[in-house]
Amino acid sequence: MKKISIIIPAYNEEEALPMLYERLNKLMNSVNNYEFEVLFVNDGSKDKTIDIIKELRKKDERICYVDFSRNFGKEIAMIAGLDYAKGDCVIFMDADLQDPPELIPELIKYWEEGYDDVYARRSSRKGETWLKKFTSKMYYRVLQSLTRVPIQKDTGDFRLLDRRCVNALKKLRESQRCSKSMFSWIGYKKKEVMYERDPRIAGSTKWNYRKLIDLAIDGITSFTTSPLRISTYLSIPTFFALFCYFIYVIVKCILTSTFVQAYQAIILLILFFSGVQILLFGIIGEYLGRIFNETKNRPLYFVNEYNGEKELNA
Ligand code: UDP
Ligand code: MG
Repeated sequence: MKKISIIIPAYNEEEALPMLYERLNKLMNSVNNYEFEVLFVNDGSKDKTIDIIKELRKKDERICYVDFSRNFGKEIAMIAGLDYAKGDCVIFMDADLQDPPELIPELIKYWEEGYDDVYARRSSRKGETWLKKFTSKMYYRVLQSLTRVPIQKDTGDFRLLDRRCVNALKKLRESQRCSKSMFSWIGYKKKEVMYERDPRIAGSTKWNYRKLIDLAIDGITSFTTSPLRISTYLSIPTFFALFCYFIYVIVKCILTSTFVQAYQAIILLILFFSGVQILLFGIIGEYLGRIFNETKNRPLYFVNEYNGEKELNA
């Protein structure tokens, strides 16, 4: 029998878990011919999340869990899920039921037809603000314009991945991760499934705009070095303009034999060029920080417990 691992990163999700289990259980019982494993990755929750997961495991053998030593973030929780999942395919899901489990049979259907990466695309996003939808849309557009690898629009992490995608992703061990671009980067046969994204059932979102901006910058810089080229593109017209302006000032001085009252122009120029320089320093710093982090070559996470057994992390 084929095994399916459902990976669920969970951070302070005590309110959502009982309802999540109820719906997952109903689903798993209705899909025959497969063995299921629900792998929770407890991302250093500060509430009772881990206790609830342990309770669930006591009454249901299909529940497994990885308990992190602290909060490492959702991206890291996802790679840990891939490391510990035993299934022939894995399905990523959020703990807050924004991704309806009822879509899983459809994902499996396409997997059986031979697709390696069946991803769910949102046709609507209920319960999210206009501003969040708009910024998310713009972000995809910018990301796509920077790279040749196709990026799937309106797609979260809700997807089914075949074992060979899992093995491929496990080889990408960078510390600042952007799963979304990694799913595209590894390639393989992809299939889109539409669904309606529900609002969160309980608890509150762990995202705020700062985190989203960080994620956006991480996404771009981990994916492409083309922002480094902005400095080249900007510097050419800048130096050309500077050269023309210089000639203009000299010629005017000679022809009219007066001093140019140039303080306003100088102030504007100083402002402009310092602005450009700060921007470029920022971009370079971005990549420098990334190189710094990657060269440390640290393990991505530490695990406290796997299914009740203490991890020695040896
Ligand atoms: N999550 C996590 N670690 C974190 C933040 C979030 O594992 O540091 C999990 C969270 O428990 C949920 C999923 O990631 O299962 C998505 O989080 P959330 O619903 O807060 O994000 P949103 O759906 O608003 O984008
Ligand atoms: Mg959510």
